[in-house]
Amino acid sequence: MNWSKFLINQLNIRKKQNLWRQRVIIEKNNDARTIIFDKRQYINFSSNDYLGLSQHLEIIKAWQIGLNKYGTGSGGSGHVIGYSDAHAKLEQQLADWLGYPRALLFISGYAVNHSIIMVLMRKNDYIIADKLSHASLLEASILSPATLQRFTHNNIESLHRFLSNNKNIGKLLVATEGIFSMDGDSAPLKKLQKVTKKYQAWLLVDDAHGIGVIGKEGKGSCYLYNIKPELLVITFGKAFGLSGAALLCDEITANYFLQYSKHLIYSTAMPPAQAVALTEAVKQIRQNDILRANLQRNINYFRQVSREYKFPLLNSNSAIQPLIIGDNKRCLQLSQFLRQRGFWVQAIRPPTVSPGSARLRITLMANHELNDISKLLETLNEFFNKTK
Ligand SMILES: *Cc1c(COP(=O)(O)O)cnc(C)c1O
Repeated sequence: MNWSKFLINQLNIRKKQNLWRQRVIIEKNNDARTIIFDKRQYINFSSNDYLGLSQHLEIIKAWQIGLNKYGTGSGGSGHVIGYSDAHAKLEQQLADWLGYPRALLFISGYAVNHSIIMVLMRKNDYIIADKLSHASLLEASILSPATLQRFTHNNIESLHRFLSNNKNIGKLLVATEGIFSMDGDSAPLKKLQKVTKKYQAWLLVDDAHGIGVIGKEGKGSCYLYNIKPELLVITFGKAFGLSGAALLCDEITANYFLQYSKHLIYSTAMPPAQAVALTEAVKQIRQNDILRANLQRNINYFRQVSREYKFPLLNSNSAIQPLIIGDNKRCLQLSQFLRQRGFWVQAIRPPTVSPGSARLRITLMANHELNDISKLLETLNEFFNKTK
């Protein structure tokens, strides 16, 4: 087959199934709560910037101070020249905050999940991952010489069955998320850890959506459930309002990654100024209970009013509040309907979610006003009544 035929065929598949994805150019993001697109203002219900920290003045200032001190780029990987006192300070701060011996910075959550699988998992090993695990983890697991098994979402029995079948083979890694990115529900971490320990497996918790948002000082899902997985992944693209990620682990594991992780050795470290900004973001996250309280108020309000409207809510107490629509086309229509009325809410379709479960992924933020939420829900109700 020739190249253009291959590419066009693949594109047509997406078009035919109403799965065409499109980027749009957002012109301004003033306060994280509103965005401007094509000269029109929208209330933003699609951002993972749950606390609105992307616009936080102290964090912006810290980044500027970092720029003045260090310049723009890091100049190389951490092993060459790219590891500064700003990086070291941030790693130490993260480790202290979350109660781990070590933290290692990565350029993104995607990279850290890839690195974990590539560097730790060998032939005869098993990766037993929640069915709804993030694409970064699943993709790496498929590429890995280890065997990937996917247990039923949040189902301890299912995990147990896989673990008990794999006894005495190779290393076992159980992977889950603190809060699931497309459903917003939480993993039963306490039970997961118990089963995992029973089989001498390691537990990986990707807390991209929990860190900063829940638990005392925003310490996340693992703190809330009082567990300490061997591998904790946190990302800075969501509640931190920046980008980047870190792996929290013990001393031996950190040293192992520094020897073997290609993502660390062959990839340019994050700019030191970004590390300075992240240090300020951690500080803000720790002390800003008020932002978490506002977010919780908004979540409670959203769920209460949605129940009154009899919307099909999922079992989520997080900032992620999906409404399952099912059909791809209807989901797109709804997203469009909302957009015409000034609300920005992304439709999420397969393969991001399973076929037939296209959804509106509504994300709430600390600085949404109750009025934003009630208007959104009113508009949703209007759509449902119209298209019954
Ligand atoms: C966003 C996300 C990632 C990827 O993190 P990036 O820093 O955006 O690459 C990984 N895991 C989960 C669960 C996520 O939601």
